[in-house]
Amino acid sequence: MVFEAVGAPLRALARPVPRAQPGQLLVRVQACGVCRTDLHLIDGEVEIAAPPRILGHQIIGTVERDAGATASASASASDEERRVGVPWLGWTCGRCAYCRGGRENLCPHARFTGRDIDGGMAEYVVADERYCFPIPASYPSEQAAPLMCAGLIGYRALRMCGDAQRIGLYGFGAAAHILAQICRWQGRSVFAFTRAGDDAAQAFALELGAAWAGASEQAPPEALDAAIIFAPLGSLVPLALRAVAPGGTVVCGGIHMSDIPSFPYGILWEERVVRSVANLTRRDGEELLALAPRAAVQTHPTSYPLEQANEALADLRAGRFTGAGVLVP
Ligand SMILES: [Zn+2]
Ligand SMILES: [Zn+2]
Repeated sequence: MVFEAVGAPLRALARPVPRAQPGQLLVRVQACGVCRTDLHLIDGEVEIAAPPRILGHQIIGTVERDAGATASASASASDEERRVGVPWLGWTCGRCAYCRGGRENLCPHARFTGRDIDGGMAEYVVADERYCFPIPASYPSEQAAPLMCAGLIGYRALRMCGDAQRIGLYGFGAAAHILAQICRWQGRSVFAFTRAGDDAAQAFALELGAAWAGASEQAPPEALDAAIIFAPLGSLVPLALRAVAPGGTVVCGGIHMSDIPSFPYGILWEERVVRSVANLTRRDGEELLALAPRAAVQTHPTSYPLEQANEALADLRAGRFTGAGVLVP
């Protein structure tokens, strides 16, 4: 399913199976999650520099036996089926100050899966082996796919909240539904904020252990220690600032957000912090994939055949499913 131009639907095309170069894996895709970032790419809010491009950066698949591209390590890789996850972070330079300082997520030369490199809305994908993750056996591929971005960005955003006990989640989609379970396992309290009247999302949040669920415009029953905003609405930033206690942090978890309206300094005063999180590091992935099975995180995928990628994206945009949308070739 190929992105050709801003605003146009993805197009189903037949293409030759890609060839892995040395250091790369040829992965047969079993599942690929859809993400709000895909909508930002299609809408042109995040630029694809060199279309056409295959989107999709929450990929789970099996490594195909080496097709002759390299005779090195993969020749000894056993006959067993090897399952990997391919995330948004597809390549970094390894040399810049960010890469050397443990912040490869900010590498200015980074290449991202499904934006700069062809992604997983396809039957096969080629990925740099150094950025792929082994997937815990307890997760079926459709369940594991949402961990690759929704889970990872949620996990990174949660780390930015430090030891906050009462956490607000604005936008209860794929990321929040994973994070709510992690927070609960860690003994934190979750307060879920959704569009006013989205009873399904609020009920879902309570089912997953949220202490409270309501509309974004509502004040929570107690002041929060931190809030994470997953919905791409700048207007949520002052709302979240008003909901956090002195010293509290508001984390913006998306790659794009509408403009933030001006707000009185008084709601930032007392050492409140507004910050964003960007991308992921490999360390984030290793930590999350070790934690998820221990916390018994269950993702709730709604699956679509690959050729219905446009329908899945439209349903994501309209909020027509709870949990995560996943494409299955
Ligand atoms: Zn770098
Ligand atoms: Zn994503």
